[in-house]
Amino acid sequence: MRNVFKEIINIMEFYQALGFEFLPFKLDIENQFNKNAKEYKVTDKNLLYKKSALDDLVREINDCKRCKLSVSRTNIVFGEGDPEAEIMFVGEAPGKEEDLQGRPFVGDAGMLLTRLIKKMGYKRENVYIANVVKCRPPMNREPEPDEIEACKGFLERQIEIIKPKVIIALGKIAALTLIGDTKLKITAIRGNFFDYNGIPLMPTFHPAYLIRNPKDKWLTWADVQKVLEKLKN
Ligand code: URA
Repeated sequence: MRNVFKEIINIMEFYQALGFEFLPFKLDIENQFNKNAKEYKVTDKNLLYKKSALDDLVREINDCKRCKLSVSRTNIVFGEGDPEAEIMFVGEAPGKEEDLQGRPFVGDAGMLLTRLIKKMGYKRENVYIANVVKCRPPMNREPEPDEIEACKGFLERQIEIIKPKVIIALGKIAALTLIGDTKLKITAIRGNFFDYNGIPLMPTFHPAYLIRNPKDKWLTWADVQKVLEKLKN
């Protein structure tokens, strides 16, 4: 027991020396005692690594001026969720509400996405949600190719860090950007798995499209069933 306390004090001193006022992870002592120690340590190390790699990326975006969207944005919408999520949802770009709050999918489309996540048996905080483009295009227009080009490296690195088991690409922009073929049609590719650097990628309709075309909701429901099936393997 004395060793455990010594270990905790060492960890705290280490982070204090780095200038942290709070531990950058949750010290789940109860679970630590309940779980197989070896397994817990590995998970904790991964989580710590992923959190700090994502924090580094946020610092790198900083006050980004890599494209013209920087002029009109209120907030950069980096993305949010569990760094160890097995499912990562990728949307197009922030809308008005997202721009104001600095969080992805918090407007009407976000409410529908959150309902979908719950129906899939997950909590919103247990998945990861990001966009191809991190700043709001004026009047909610589609992001332009130069804006996608300037920003997509951040999404690629988010995926590299999180390493989700499955990516769900919401709508044309997310799907075509990650697949790397701008000539594809979302109506033709949705419901079929693609490969993104070894990670299965499922394109489906964007929630904003589903708000306008509710009769197609069942198609997205069918697409996510395939994802849930894949996660069982
Ligand atoms: N639409 C998107 O593609 N992303 C958001 O974050 C919100 C709406």
